[in-house]
Amino acid sequence: MSKPKVAFYWCASCGGCEEAVVDLAEDILAVTEAVELVFWPVALDFKRADVEAMQEDEIAVAFINGAIRTSEQEEMAHLLRRKAQLVVAFGACSHLGGVPGLANLWDRGTILRYVYQEAPSVANGLNVIPQEMWSEDGRRVTLPAFRNTVRALNQVTPVDYYLPGCPPTPKLIKEAVGAILEGKLPPKGTVLAPDVALCEECPLKASKPEKLTLTEFKRPHRTMMDPTTCLLAQGLLCMGPATRGGCEALCPTGHMPCTGCFGPTSRVKDQGAKILSAIASVVDAKDEGEIERILAGIPDPIGTFYRYSLPTSILRRRVL
Ligand code: SF4
Ligand code: SF4
Repeated sequence: MSKPKVAFYWCASCGGCEEAVVDLAEDILAVTEAVELVFWPVALDFKRADVEAMQEDEIAVAFINGAIRTSEQEEMAHLLRRKAQLVVAFGACSHLGGVPGLANLWDRGTILRYVYQEAPSVANGLNVIPQEMWSEDGRRVTLPAFRNTVRALNQVTPVDYYLPGCPPTPKLIKEAVGAILEGKLPPKGTVLAPDVALCEECPLKASKPEKLTLTEFKRPHRTMMDPTTCLLAQGLLCMGPATRGGCEALCPTGHMPCTGCFGPTSRVKDQGAKILSAIASVVDAKDEGEIERILAGIPDPIGTFYRYSLPTSILRRRVL
């Protein structure tokens, strides 16, 4: 019997999701034994033309990581959607827009100007900004278009399942691959991780007070933490109450606050708004000046509350 064909692809990605696949360690041998890898540009020399030559639905599952920023990424997402029976948004960038989605705080022109002309480390004597097309001596070069807005995968093409995390953990990847191979998949649209808040699985949960009050927010690198007490109760901005579990609380266990990479549970519409409202309700201040002093302890509010989810939030992007 032929093996199911599997594709991996990366869009606007840091490469960490690809590393996560390699992190399967010796289990990767079992995966490669069970499936036929037909496309994985970061590791194997397949070309886009190889995918284009495939029949529709020939690929059993395409795992796509990274957000969608360029015209080429859009085209690849559509191509893989046509050729694959199942498309899995792999990792926070594909699932929610991720860290690259914070670029939606600026527009395309501002980003290109800063990166190619204004950043302190730039030496660009000719003041060149990349063009989508350039012709010289009868030759023509084209580059993918750099879109104005970063999007999550499902804002470009239909997605069947979501593997959350920055990156997804080896355990979740193994479980997802196992479920796909055994045909034991939940309804389409499911996020393949438990639908509970991270606090539920955190080993520090018992020390999280029923009624929490905070008079200051602390930064992890400036704080001597008590490793036995809930980080939020210590004034460290932990996104656990507004974030889906499934990572086995790796960050709080390592004494780092959760930054929210698994996204919200199904009951939360906007992860950033949810944690903002949770935080607002525990700030213990008597007047406006005190509220401002306490909130000044959060140096980058949008980067903190919407670190992984700006493109799929209610805000989506800053209008410029
Ligand atoms: S989800 Fe995280 S690890 Fe994966 S590509 Fe995005 S930033 Fe990198
Ligand atoms: S440390 Fe974070 S994840 Fe753990 S119980 Fe406290 S708020 Fe929840």
